Amino acid sequence: MGQSDESPTTESNDAETAEETARFTATKRTFLRGSGVALGAGVLPAGASTALGTTGGESNSVARGGGGMVSSVHRQATEAGVEVLENGGNAVDAAVAVQFALNVVQPHSSGIGGGGFMLVYSAEEDEIIAIDNRERAPLGAQPDMFLNEQGEEVPFLERHTNGKAVGVPGTLKAADVAVKRFGTKELGELIEPAVELAAPDGETVTVDEFLASSIAANVEEGAFTSTAKKVFAPGGDPLEAGDELAQPDLADTLRTIRDEGIGAFYKGEIAEDIAETVQGAARYRKTGGNMTVDDLGRYNVEITRPVHVTYEGDAHDITVRTMRSPTSGGYVIGQILKLLEPFDLAQYDRRSFDVYHRMIEAFQLAFADRNEYLGDEEFVDIPWQGFLDEEYLDDRRQIIDPKEATAATREPGDPFAYQPGGQYFVSPRDVEEAQHVANASGNKGKKTGTEEPSGQTTHFTTADADGNLVSWTSTIEQLFGSGIMVPGRGFMLNNELTDFDSEPGGPNEVQPEKRPLSSTSPTIVTRDGDPFLTVGSPGGWSIIHTVSQILLNVAEFGMDIDEAVAEPRVYSATGTWVQAEGGVPDGVVDELNAAGHDVSVVESIGNVQSIRIEDDGGYVGVADKRRNGSAKSP
Ligand code: GLU
Repeated sequence: MGQSDESPTTESNDAETAEETARFTATKRTFLRGSGVALGAGVLPAGASTALGTTGGESNSVARGGGGMVSSVHRQATEAGVEVLENGGNAVDAAVAVQFALNVVQPHSSGIGGGGFMLVYSAEEDEIIAIDNRERAPLGAQPDMFLNEQGEEVPFLERHTNGKAVGVPGTLKAADVAVKRFGTKELGELIEPAVELAAPDGETVTVDEFLASSIAANVEEGAFTSTAKKVFAPGGDPLEAGDELAQPDLADTLRTIRDEGIGAFYKGEIAEDIAETVQGAARYRKTGGNMTVDDLGRYNVEITRPVHVTYEGDAHDITVRTMRSPTSGGYVIGQILKLLEPFDLAQYDRRSFDVYHRMIEAFQLAFADRNEYLGDEEFVDIPWQGFLDEEYLDDRRQIIDPKEATAATREPGDPFAYQPGGQYFVSPRDVEEAQHVANASGNKGKKTGTEEPSGQTTHFTTADADGNLVSWTSTIEQLFGSGIMVPGRGFMLNNELTDFDSEPGGPNEVQPEKRPLSSTSPTIVTRDGDPFLTVGSPGGWSIIHTVSQILLNVAEFGMDIDEAVAEPRVYSATGTWVQAEGGVPDGVVDELNAAGHDVSVVESIGNVQSIRIEDDGGYVGVADKRRNGSAKSP
């Protein structure tokens, strides 16, 4: 057993030379060789997966096949990816096509106005590589920009619908870099299915329940700018489920990018429109932000290595690779798994008090540390080794009482005491000020006591016949992001900068060019050195709980991936509150309440898309029924 974390590295230039830069070739990994043909592309009936009785995916929440797999939250996006695979594209090509299609069919969850984190398993290199496309604060951003003149936090609705909330978008850059480094197709070709979906004479996009409810909520809150309202509530009436969604401006923007490349977006005419829109948000409402064309031109993705943690389960020993800072996902999932590992949870019934209670306490311990210590590691020192230090984990685990909720689990520990070299505080801009802030505040995180809503963002995953995999979580933060659409361009701008703490002073305070702390956790798991599964979810903080529970369901409780995804989830982070999905037995909810938890039953937590690589090399794709997702094999 052991855990470690590799240093953040930028891929060496060597890897960018010669043929390597290029593309995946047809080199097949042994574990997949010859497997595709036998399995076919059958789609299991819905009954093959244990339904939770939430929103119901009917026909393709589980798919099997060896020639590749696509799983996303939307049928038309999944089909765009499958078509690319059928036309000879690889997993990265397919993922990029899925992303563009999602921008059209689920414009409230992700798109070129947002950012995210992408993991790629390159079968040829036998490596997992992370493409971090998190949005950055513009150069003009200030630590106190979310406070009013009285020094009080601006209310969330006002904050998130404000130009200051908009981070410099990374999604399009990630798509471009990923295709250049790993793909086999041209970016323009991969945009084409999305153009066809957005154009009025293309295949129609029908508004589904999820989109309709998001539109209604944004109209009701007054979150949309007038441009967005014209698209999603034409004539003032919110589009409803079953209505058709036409996005001609978005189609034109996608055509421009298809024809001119991403330069149009990062330094050309679209960049100018983005900057003008963000700065001029006051024209629509409230104060504007200060993003400039220069901020867009300076943006680049980071190519890094994922965090990895091993977990020895009753059913499988796995190595979990997921994203490092600026998402908290990798460290927090790692800490949760390592806190729970010695409890041998498989000795209990999966839906017992003993399992849920220990999970909840581990979630609280890990979130107390998350909210105290984590931020963008380019700007602050984070105790990533201390977080996963075995002695530290032993100490923290002792706090868990097997029978009762303990307030001490909600207090942060001192992982810096277990961090080689101790703590220092790095700010490339103003070290003196940073040290002053660290001393004055004890480097306190400011985001406490907040229960984040679950359910935004989108996760999708692809695989191809050569064994390449993509696990990509993509977001514009809130549903419809800032509510600001770039006029004439048809895409929504994120409000990702609200993931910073509003109050200055902690590791996640706003700083120019800094990336806000995320919870997104695209994950690729290996077993005995070979890829085993991909997993990820939307849901703010609850992404971490969702992914952790899937991993435990598979590695500890030996569930098939469809069962693991369907299994009811619980969520708890900073207070006595716990959310539990309806499948958690009533008697267990009573026991949890009696033990001092404050449980409310909710319809759903998270929305997972996952691919399991089976022993014979075939793929099982699972799309969560909680949001009517769609898994399909070519
Ligand atoms: N902005 C959130 C994060 O990066 C994701 C939004 C969501 O899924 O709710 O953690």
